[in-house]
Amino acid sequence: MTILILGGAGYIGSHTVYELIDRGEDVIVADNLQTGHIEAVHPKAEFYKGDIRDKSFLDEIFKKEKIDAVIHFAANSLVGESMTDPLKYYDNNLYGTMVLLKSMVENGIDKIVFSSTAAVYGEPENIPILEADRTEPTNTYGETKLSMEKMFKWVSGAHNLRYVSLRYFNACGAHVSGKIGEAHNPESHLIPIILQVPNGKRKEVCIFGDDYPTKDGTCVRDYIHVTDLAQAHILAVDYLMKGNSSDIFNLGNGVGFTVKEVIETARKVTGHPVPAVISPRRAGDPAQLIASSEKSKSVLGWKPQYADIEEIIATAWKWHKHHPDGFSK
Ligand code: UDP
Repeated sequence: MTILILGGAGYIGSHTVYELIDRGEDVIVADNLQTGHIEAVHPKAEFYKGDIRDKSFLDEIFKKEKIDAVIHFAANSLVGESMTDPLKYYDNNLYGTMVLLKSMVENGIDKIVFSSTAAVYGEPENIPILEADRTEPTNTYGETKLSMEKMFKWVSGAHNLRYVSLRYFNACGAHVSGKIGEAHNPESHLIPIILQVPNGKRKEVCIFGDDYPTKDGTCVRDYIHVTDLAQAHILAVDYLMKGNSSDIFNLGNGVGFTVKEVIETARKVTGHPVPAVISPRRAGDPAQLIASSEKSKSVLGWKPQYADIEEIIATAWKWHKHHPDGFSK
């Protein structure tokens, strides 16, 4: 199979490329390198630098290569930034996807797996969250992802195209080799922020609110290893290759950890005291997000390998300890 990975230089994209190449597939990566890193692209993948909003760039790839399926990661994904610069999110995430779909339809490419997010649910009505639960995003990022899902739904109804949307919960951890991992600038995710403390990059961690209705007052999230997410994309491609119909799946571990528990685990893994201070709540943070991934397990046959938060943080630490500045030299 030949798979085109849009955003294959980013965090989850690069890990998916590694898993596909391990399985012996041909992989083509396209990335504008706005937030991705060329160093994260597997040396065996063919690389095209360009932007999904540039239709001629996509047309050229589809005409030149024989693509069996597309996996689409090319998007902006910072909740805070999406609130201060919403049009950036409409432009890259929604307009970018529209251009991509136009090019796919015109070039007869009919299978796509793409990144969605738990942020489409907003404040959940049930825990664990099911795919059929209410979707009412509380931020622009989640709204653009939900709009993307709807765009796929209508376009697939009109054209010969099938899709799988994967709603990730909290992606974390790093490739077991320690060669690639999470590298955002500035960093905004909890686990890499915590690990900046033992790395000497930050004095302490701020806990965003300790008055939530949870067991220790801090927010509960479902942390899922990036390699498990990568495997789910491959299973989703297999699912479409077998002729199955379009669908939406949650991807999480089904277990929630509080911010304090994550910090405590990181202390254990790194052997560093990791000082933490209580700060005000962050706008738009639901108290609890925990996935039901039963559908991914039963329909896609997905089996997450990293159930243990300590093991997940250990893979992240292996990467961050040796790459305190991410991919920069
Ligand atoms: N968080 C925190 N301090 C930080 C960063 C994050 O307390 O410096 C909390 C955040 O409020 C949320 C959880 O950690 O409850 C996970 O946040 P992250 O940004 O990693 O992912 P999100 O849940 O927003 O997708």
